[in-house]
Amino acid sequence: MGLHDVIIAGAGIIGVSLALELRDGGARVLVLDEHEPGRGASSAAAGMLAATDPETPAALRAFALQSARMFPEFVKRIEADSGLSVDFRRQGTIVLGSGPFPENHQLLSRSELAGLEPDLDPGTHQAFFVAEDAVDPSLLMQAALRASEANAVEIRPGTKVLGMRGGAGQVEVTADKGTLSSAQAVNCCGAWAGAPVKPRKGQMLYLRAERTGVLEHVVRAPEAYMVPRSSGKILVGATVEDVGFNTQVEPEVIERLRSAAVRYLPQLASAPAIESWAGLRPGTPDDLPLMGETESKGVFIASGHFRNGILLAPATARVMAQLMRGEEPATDLMAFSPQRFAPARVQIG
Ligand SMILES: Cc1cc2nc3c(=O)[nH]c(=O)nc-3n(C[C@H](O)[C@H](O)[C@H](O)COP(=O)(O)OP(=O)(O)OC[C@H]3O[C@@H](n4cnc5c(N)ncnc54)[C@H](O)[C@@H]3O)c2cc1C
Repeated sequence: MGLHDVIIAGAGIIGVSLALELRDGGARVLVLDEHEPGRGASSAAAGMLAATDPETPAALRAFALQSARMFPEFVKRIEADSGLSVDFRRQGTIVLGSGPFPENHQLLSRSELAGLEPDLDPGTHQAFFVAEDAVDPSLLMQAALRASEANAVEIRPGTKVLGMRGGAGQVEVTADKGTLSSAQAVNCCGAWAGAPVKPRKGQMLYLRAERTGVLEHVVRAPEAYMVPRSSGKILVGATVEDVGFNTQVEPEVIERLRSAAVRYLPQLASAPAIESWAGLRPGTPDDLPLMGETESKGVFIASGHFRNGILLAPATARVMAQLMRGEEPATDLMAFSPQRFAPARVQIG
């Protein structure tokens, strides 16, 4: 047996959160990443913790809410262990549209909306308030990596995992730099986790408002969402595209998102776009994550978190660690079983 109890492929927010949780239970954990850790979807996300977004599949809602409730504690722990702030903002979210929205969405009158966001022009939309938080995912990722280091999780960059095979009491992990063994292994490779996971591209940009306080709440509107950071930057997103592993940023798409934001917040008309990028969400055929043991004994997967991987990180780490320790997971994972796709085979890449 190797030096590690668990080998995790993929140092995104899912792999690193799981590593921390397993480490808390005393496991010796090695995380391998093909590239620099934390540079996948987890640093490219918006960071909305949109647990009750009507677009979230019904089968995911209870789990999403559970993870949202775990988030304050998750942030506190990562900030304490890393010494870094992750810009966790609890001002809430304003949803523009005509619904129907879940019960926790509170309809706002025009004057209530003006009281919350004086510069926001909802157009013909109704406005609702929902108590959903947001985090800066790029800061969260960096802090989670630092926290892992502080907790003696070993993270090895530049190592591509090619396969994981279970056997008699041990798992063989084949990487481009040799073969390793451990008691268990987990595929946390995000959009690169292999079929049935496939990449779903999202393009976004950051605007820098000329003054602070232009936007305090997350705003979700039909054509775009806007997520303010405490630094004064406002993120505007995002497309959902099925174009394989293409991460090209298209100026006309960025301009379309920018002008949608300006329609809602005319104050942003002359705000410069300071950054634009594209990331790859790990999508699945039914928009539900894959969490559980694969057909290969001792080989697990936690991937396919699509639009909600930041939100779902704490609950995913908790239930996966429970499952891997042989405990009864706090959540019924049936709907997320990797075995639901036939053939029940999950191969990396
Ligand atoms: C534009 C956009 C907006 C989003 N907005 C939100 C949001 O508001 N809220 C939310 O909750 N979620 C959001 N998401 C989704 C969220 O970002 C993802 O669900 C989440 O980051 C997935 O995390 P992960 O750890 O599975 O994948 P990743 O962060 O992509 O990490 C996977 C890692 O695996 C590594 N890897 C790949 N192949 C191998 C291999 N063979 N061997 C070793 N390592 C490998 C990669 O290098 C990478 O570091 C958004 C995503 C995008 C793209």
